Amino acid sequence: MRFLAIGEAMLELSEQSPLWALNVAGDTFNTAWHVKRLLGDTAEVEYLSVLGTDPFSDRIARFMAASGIGTRFLRRDAGRGPGLYAISLQDGERNFTYWRDRSAARLLADDPEHLAAALDWAGTIYFSGITLAILTPEARARLLSALETAHAAGRRLIFDPNLRPRLWEDAPTMRATITRAAGLADVLLPSFEDEAQHFGDADLAACARRYGADAGRDVVVKNGGQDVLLAVDGARTLWPLDTVTPVDTTGAGDAFNAGWIAARHRGLDADASLAAAHDLARHVVSIQGALG
Ligand code: ADP
Repeated sequence: MRFLAIGEAMLELSEQSPLWALNVAGDTFNTAWHVKRLLGDTAEVEYLSVLGTDPFSDRIARFMAASGIGTRFLRRDAGRGPGLYAISLQDGERNFTYWRDRSAARLLADDPEHLAAALDWAGTIYFSGITLAILTPEARARLLSALETAHAAGRRLIFDPNLRPRLWEDAPTMRATITRAAGLADVLLPSFEDEAQHFGDADLAACARRYGADAGRDVVVKNGGQDVLLAVDGARTLWPLDTVTPVDTTGAGDAFNAGWIAARHRGLDADASLAAAHDLARHVVSIQGALG
């Protein structure tokens, strides 16, 4: 499989009193990282993004390469640097602070030829609502139209809506863009809590329907520690999960998506793929950090 993920890999600072640990994370990056780890040599994994030319950008690129993720579609822009976020503890609650407004990754769809070459290389393309949210309206339109062309040329598109209203200019734009992007995808991996909040879905089935489960798309609706709805290959199953008391839920959905993608790639049926996806996500919620 040639797997291309598109988005932003950021520096992650996490408080490990009295010092701070520096790691690399970001929603589509986390999924790419897990896919590579799960599939090893049976998958070529590339990450389409932009970094700066500073030492911290080099550090992200080195981490990618060391994780087996290809850097051939990683552009560099000397005028910008990588996005950064910090996780601090406030009264026992994890608090996220972001510095990503001018990150280099916001330019990821600015070079049409580079974009076309990357999408052309890929067999499976993975992107999220965050990938779209960080772009200007013009860059978003460029990416969506390139994805449309790629889809028409037979590429498989997998989309996690990952709704983050704070990254968007306004909620109607978020909803309209997410709906358009979802319309291009073959596989949709939404999280119910966000979807219910922003699209008003009454239940998991309504969410699956809105994302085209009745129109032949595979939709897996995650719901935190609660039952997952599988709307795959025309069948509907509500899948009860065995839960743990979470240590850190960061990246659970990203890991779940990777587990699902890898298992389907290996030819597992929907039930077995869900078990694999949940096993990995449950592991990720049981440890600190988005990878693990
Ligand atoms: P996100 O909000 O990161 O998109 P969710 O919170 O919906 O993701 O959870 C994704 C997956 O993580 C769930 O489908 C489940 O497999 C796993 N998960 C989440 N919370 C728990 C938990 N408490 N125990 C076990 N697994 C969990």
